[in-house]
Amino acid sequence: MENRVLVRSGEAPRCHALALFGQTAHPVQMAEDFTEAFRAVARGKTIAANKGPTPFMVQYLDIKARHPEALLFFRMGDFYELFFDDAVDAAAVLDITLTARGEHDGKPIPMAGVPYHAAENYLARLIKSGRTVAVCEQMESPADAKKRGSKAVVARDIVRIVTPGTLTEDTLLPARQGQALAAVAFGKGGAEAAIAAADVSTGQFDLIACSRDTLGEHLTALPVREWLATQTDCDGDTIKPLRNVVGAPLTERPDRSAHPARGENLLKDMLGISALDALGAMSRAELSAIALLLDYVSLTQAGGDIRLDPPRRSGKGNALAIDPATRASLEIDRSLAGERGGSLLATVDRTLTATGARLLANRLAQPSRDRVEIEARLDAVAWFADRSVLRGEVRDRLKATPDLERARTRLRLGRGGPRDLAAIAAALFAADGAVAVMAEPMDGAPETLKAAMGHLTLANHPSLASMAEDLSKAIADDPPLLARDGGFIAPGWDAGLDETRGLRDGARRIIAGLERDYADETGITGLKIKYNNVLGYFIDVAARVADPLMTAPLNQRFIHRQTLAKNVRFTTEALQELAGRISRAEDEAKARERGLFDDFVSRIEGANVALGAAAGAIAELDVASSLAEWAEAVGAVRPYIADAPVIRAEGLRHPVVEAALRKDGHGFTSNDLALDATGLTAPRLTLITGPNMAGKSTFLRQAALAVILAQAGSFVPARAFEFGLADRVFSRVGASDDLARGRSTFMVEMVETATILSQATEHSMVILDEVGRGTSTFDGLAIAWAAVEHLHDVNGCRALFATHYHELTDLVARLKHAENASLRAREWKGELIFLHEVQAGPADKSYGVQVAKLAGLPKRAVARAAEILATLEADGGGPTALPLFAAAPPPTAPQPEPFTLPAPQPSPTVELLDTIDPDTLTPREALDLIYQLKATGSGQSKPEGPMAE
Ligand code: ATP
Repeated sequence: MENRVLVRSGEAPRCHALALFGQTAHPVQMAEDFTEAFRAVARGKTIAANKGPTPFMVQYLDIKARHPEALLFFRMGDFYELFFDDAVDAAAVLDITLTARGEHDGKPIPMAGVPYHAAENYLARLIKSGRTVAVCEQMESPADAKKRGSKAVVARDIVRIVTPGTLTEDTLLPARQGQALAAVAFGKGGAEAAIAAADVSTGQFDLIACSRDTLGEHLTALPVREWLATQTDCDGDTIKPLRNVVGAPLTERPDRSAHPARGENLLKDMLGISALDALGAMSRAELSAIALLLDYVSLTQAGGDIRLDPPRRSGKGNALAIDPATRASLEIDRSLAGERGGSLLATVDRTLTATGARLLANRLAQPSRDRVEIEARLDAVAWFADRSVLRGEVRDRLKATPDLERARTRLRLGRGGPRDLAAIAAALFAADGAVAVMAEPMDGAPETLKAAMGHLTLANHPSLASMAEDLSKAIADDPPLLARDGGFIAPGWDAGLDETRGLRDGARRIIAGLERDYADETGITGLKIKYNNVLGYFIDVAARVADPLMTAPLNQRFIHRQTLAKNVRFTTEALQELAGRISRAEDEAKARERGLFDDFVSRIEGANVALGAAAGAIAELDVASSLAEWAEAVGAVRPYIADAPVIRAEGLRHPVVEAALRKDGHGFTSNDLALDATGLTAPRLTLITGPNMAGKSTFLRQAALAVILAQAGSFVPARAFEFGLADRVFSRVGASDDLARGRSTFMVEMVETATILSQATEHSMVILDEVGRGTSTFDGLAIAWAAVEHLHDVNGCRALFATHYHELTDLVARLKHAENASLRAREWKGELIFLHEVQAGPADKSYGVQVAKLAGLPKRAVARAAEILATLEADGGGPTALPLFAAAPPPTAPQPEPFTLPAPQPSPTVELLDTIDPDTLTPREALDLIYQLKATGSGQSKPEGPMAE
């Protein structure tokens, strides 16, 4: 067997092998499969092959080796082809046919292809499935390649790596959601951390300095689609546990790509500045994160320019902190099931534009702690809330506003097309129309709206105005997606283009005339002039009448091109000359259109700052008017921000539960709430008891959601709402396993409770539901007890604590700043009625057995439970008699004697079954036994307990 090592020219003696399989000629590993081999090649290893691949394969393998981790979309004419393992993988994901092309090393090469025109759809599916794709284009035409020699392979190169976090295409991106590519890095020692996050579809770039402990909190506040960390960090203790929390794919990057000096250089290059002083001093962690991010963005753009806005720095201090567990349990932007529906965001979102939707999502994900900022947002909502007619008119115009932000970014990145140009003009006109409606009553309007109006009034921005005007005249209706397809410049815009198109159309008309002439001249009525990609223009006649054209004298003029079963095809010199003219005119027209397109792109680049401000202003108007719309629809009020750490709500409601109930035609019962961390005007902590299903969790959550809505700058669903700004909101509601991280329900519960007890301050808002449920009664009660005392005495925060441990209600009565409240329920004709009303004082009963009955527990089990409950209560051995109240502090309380469950009555059925030996029964005896059992069972099923019906 012949061994051959393929060496890229100029690279010997460090052999860079491109072929796979076979015996080793140099000290390298044997590759088990292609992917392994590609990786080996990427690492600079040499692999020997026993058969030389074709020049085409050499090119393919060479390109593939540069990105072994990505599926390679290899452009061949009208298709992107995938080969080897890539083909097998893509065919399975995309459900496309797997074929073979040629042989490599004696084996057929698996191949799968997707048409280039429909590639985005396939790309979207691959990205969604978590793959990355390297897009390799033809860098010259086959004709140009031939000039280099008849066997020359068309030059190809990777133009882009498509990854989940670096998308810009409308078809690949959910319009109403932001996307963040987040790079995480650490300072020396690891305590200090930083996140550099970019939305490459809008150019937004955020830099967040934080601690290792709050990384998860900051990452989950961003719409992360992909995140990056160095190989070393990925293996470390901080990043590993965050994988599940963040949810998006984590891409490992080499350690060297996070070098701080590289970060500094990349940032300077991107911003075109020589010093970073204007951005403020940057930590080592921040510069490392920047390095990781920009290096990756540049890689995915195959070395193209990085186009992001200057980084906005935020760190500790600006935003209301919401840890990942709280964010998930409050279902802010997705429900516990992971859906957008059923979340707070989905419920309040009335935005009409994609930019507005993304801004609203961002505000709810990261509510503010800055009073001035919150009041400014509320002013804008209030202004729209007071003007419903005007609001309707403004919103009518906003409806027609395309996504200016992403269109502008795509164009800047060189990925835009004629539709993006049209979108920019349409957005500018629609927004100008919207602010024109607002112009009259603008005096005394809030500053945010005045600023937005300033950015959007075209009369203030002559260059934007003339650009929008030009675009609207220049771009034809319904333009194609890609500039290279041509045909998007409207007639009348460019005289040169019109002239070229005239030549082309003129030639086409002459061809149409030729068809008539040739038919007359030859007497063949069915003669047609047609066009296809292979022959270009040709004369087509039926085979049975073609003979005269192939014999003298007509064969002098009609040149035979092709014979098919039923048709024969010809050309003439005149036709060839006209076809040449058309093709030259078409090429010229396309080149001219491309030039005009590029001119517009540079104008857009020049107006980048003004366009960015306009996009922001559209989002601002949309969010303010949408929140006003929602407030009016559901009856929400402007929150009043107090100086003291209080919450006073009248008629507070849970927006999501209320919306769900309304859909089913049910009403929602509102409730009042008063908390004061100082304890001066209201309790600091309220303990909520009440039956299952009475609405305890709902009451707790609506308080936390009200704070989040208010600090995001929204009205609150209540008759009146006053509160002091919170620094953090904590929620622990319900128990959930986190088996993937090796934690049991109880462990998760305790970790979350520990976080709250160690971090809540007097400015925090805490809701705790059912703490201690995951362990034995005494342990659970002791833990819940200690948590209540800690919140009350040490944290001193506003807190709502829901529990089923009725024993705690006595504790609360003894704490200075705590009170009991309960949800009312009533028994009526043996049925339990929930009133959902919060009243002062503890609940009298827990009604657990009645709820079990409501839930459809078998009658017999319900009866038995009621019976046990009655015995427990009568014996005084049940939970109400636990002697914990006698001692303080509770954990050292003497353990009570374990109470015993009443012994069940012997069952006749069981007794009968005990006498049977199934192995010795005849079929007849078995049948008799069934009759006997049935008789015993029905005699026995008479309920005797207190729940008997
Ligand atoms: P459990 O103790 O079993 O966890 P719970 O007391 O926490 O129950 P919730 O989960 O808050 O009860 O509420 C149960 C259901 O009752 C809700 O899904 C909702 O349908 C309804 N509900 C809750 N609060 C109200 C209310 N204020 N008005 C109307 N319906 C309500």
